[in-house]
Amino acid sequence: MENIIHIENLIYEYPQEEEKEVLRAIRGISLDIERGSFTAIIGRNGSGKSTLAKLLNGLFVPTEGIIYVEKWNTADDKHIWDVRQTAGMVFQNPDNQLVSSIVEDDVAFGPENIGIAPDEIRSRVDDALEAVRMGEYKLKAPHMLSGGQKQRIAIAGVLAMKPKCIIFDEPTAMLDPRGREDILKIIKKLNDEGITTILITHFMDEAVQADRVIIMNDGEIVLDGSPMEVFSQAEKIMKVNLEVPIAVELAGRLRKRGIKIPGDVVTVEDMVNFICQYK
Ligand code: ADP
Ligand code: MG
Repeated sequence: MENIIHIENLIYEYPQEEEKEVLRAIRGISLDIERGSFTAIIGRNGSGKSTLAKLLNGLFVPTEGIIYVEKWNTADDKHIWDVRQTAGMVFQNPDNQLVSSIVEDDVAFGPENIGIAPDEIRSRVDDALEAVRMGEYKLKAPHMLSGGQKQRIAIAGVLAMKPKCIIFDEPTAMLDPRGREDILKIIKKLNDEGITTILITHFMDEAVQADRVIIMNDGEIVLDGSPMEVFSQAEKIMKVNLEVPIAVELAGRLRKRGIKIPGDVVTVEDMVNFICQYK
């Protein structure tokens, strides 16, 4: 399969206050991301997820190793805007991503910055707001909106750049359950429409909806596979201080009571389907 991202032996170190010391946040990661795929990355705080995200989007340059986004090496200054435009990023706190006092200006900010023609900007802004179902809010002030709505505007701002890939760094962490659900629906819809999706999350019920789950710990990848392959390894998951998804836990407990549940029951939906056909 064709890859949109290719990472080889990646290391990233943060300089520390003591000049000679460094903190190695990424400790040798090699990884390919298939075009059009939906990958969830999970791992406890400090495992290096956000650092990896910023490396993918060219905000940071590798200390060692190499990252290609499309055909561009992210360390190549000449193509830094190609990299950032191809791999857009949505952060946890939409307030840090919103810059204007009117929603539509905010969404237009990115395309304006790269010199897109006004007509084209107009249609991109309308399409992007439509895609996140915020069209009717285009003349509103972002600070008047709910957290979930602000996050939708932040996503529209990234969409207006026509990215081929979007990296979402815990986009629902600050939202209530309703807002979370809305954002996840949008993320899945965008992926269905062909945008390569990388979702960093600490919600297992979100991770199980991806095609592929990667678990990071201490700057390394410790598990990588389909949700079923990853979440069936409960021991390894608990070892890195993560929980397993609710349906996986429930399936495990039911198995102990003698009910035969197939290993591919990982989402609540899977569990419901299993129970409904159980005789
Ligand atoms: P995660 O997103 O998984 O919580 P991060 O990528 O934010 O992890 O952090 C990985 C490691 O790098 C942590 O030990 C963190 O303290 C450190 N770190 C993150 N950002 C900085 C920074 N700007 N300067 C120095 N160290 C940092
Ligand atoms: Mg983080």
